[in-house]
Amino acid sequence: MFSVHRGNFGSQFLKKQEKRIQTRIEKYNDPERIKEELKNGGLSDYTKYKQKNLVPKLRKALHKIHTNQYGYCEKCNQPIEIKRLEIIPAAEHCLKCIKVNNS
Ligand SMILES: [Zn+2]
Repeated sequence: MFSVHRGNFGSQFLKKQEKRIQTRIEKYNDPERIKEELKNGGLSDYTKYKQKNLVPKLRKALHKIHTNQYGYCEKCNQPIEIKRLEIIPAAEHCLKCIKVNNS
């Protein structure tokens, strides 16, 4: 099955997002910090949270970039606002769907 043609995001933008995502994954998986925290009695809640909740999302977003699925809302399938993606590169939902979720 062919996926819907998704050409709304330029390759420049996708490259930028890919870099952003990789930088974040590296930051949250910083081996020096993890070593330091383990030495001090265990991972901090901050690191645990980032690793458990954010890193998988970031990896998923990276995978989406590579498979040309990036930037589309998982709920309504519409493109997610670019401004939103710039702030939250691993965003899975558009603003509209977030608002519906929260009400
Ligand atoms: Zn949506």
